[in-house]
Amino acid sequence: MKNFRPIRLKDIYTARRRISEIAQRSPLIYSSVLSERLGSAVYLKLENLQPTGSFKIRGAANAILGLSPDQKSRGVIAFSTGNHGRAVAYVAGRLGIKAVICLSKRVPAYRVNAMQKLGAEVVQRGNSQDEAYEYALEIREKSGLTMVNPFDDPLVIAGQGTIALEVAEDLPDVTSVIVPVSGGGLISGIAVALKSINPDVAVTGVSMDCAPAMFHSLQAGKPVEIEEKDSLADALLGGIGLDNRFTFQLVRDYVDRIILVSEREIADAMFFCLDQQRLAIEGAGAVGVSAILTEKIRDPGSKTVVVLSGGNVDTATLVQIANKRYGNKNEK
Ligand SMILES: *Cc1c(COP(=O)(O)O)cnc(C)c1O
Repeated sequence: MKNFRPIRLKDIYTARRRISEIAQRSPLIYSSVLSERLGSAVYLKLENLQPTGSFKIRGAANAILGLSPDQKSRGVIAFSTGNHGRAVAYVAGRLGIKAVICLSKRVPAYRVNAMQKLGAEVVQRGNSQDEAYEYALEIREKSGLTMVNPFDDPLVIAGQGTIALEVAEDLPDVTSVIVPVSGGGLISGIAVALKSINPDVAVTGVSMDCAPAMFHSLQAGKPVEIEEKDSLADALLGGIGLDNRFTFQLVRDYVDRIILVSEREIADAMFFCLDQQRLAIEGAGAVGVSAILTEKIRDPGSKTVVVLSGGNVDTATLVQIANKRYGNKNEK
């Protein structure tokens, strides 16, 4: 186990120095309500407070700052369900680099608008991530733009891993981390960093049960395609790529387990974050909280960190979820 080392702890420290002017050090807060539920201490890592509303700014900053001057002058291209595109648009905007973002037509309008506001050129094509990806490859051929991969890139993984360096400093005796999983860049970076510091820390991934690409790929022993569904955790949609080079093996080697949560459980967790923590958290960002509320996490050890990976939910969705919960409460 753990022979596959495309990134090392030192790469993650390098990433941290490089991205420090663009990504924030995010707060780690103690949650008394979740601690009570779990029966041991729970802390929340608030990546929803990043300038672009998600952790993706870390990997995008590390990848873009790592380009050559010539690549920077030609610009970057990305395909994304939203948060990665937004991060690439933001970082490129801050550095004065041109950015083109390819999206599938499934990506909600509020996410598209956010990227356009940051100065990026947005093109929408196809009904899946994979189709948007194909189109991005076509544009790249013609334009000489450099692709910034959303997860399957060592610089991106190292950037996401900087979260774990902050956790290890703020909570040196952390025993367990719970991390949302889609393509696996976030959890790979965190797992490599934390397990390099302390191999005993348990790393648990959480995905939505309607389309968990990494989960099915692990079961199959190789990257597999899955059908895309609509999910409250829209930022977790998309495959891991049949030609996956890094995150599949890293997750297989470094992550202890992946658990699944339902749409209803995700909505409950979003409501819980709003109602009990006063935090607006998107579906993808709330799956770790679902894992605790549903008691799918057992035996977590004494100090658990839940990564709240993003807060880019539109207000209408959040209000709808809250209204339903209050409606149900009043019915009896
Ligand atoms: C992208 C994203 C994830 C999943 O990250 P991966 O590196 O693709 O596993 C989780 N939460 C949010 C909010 C995201 O935007």
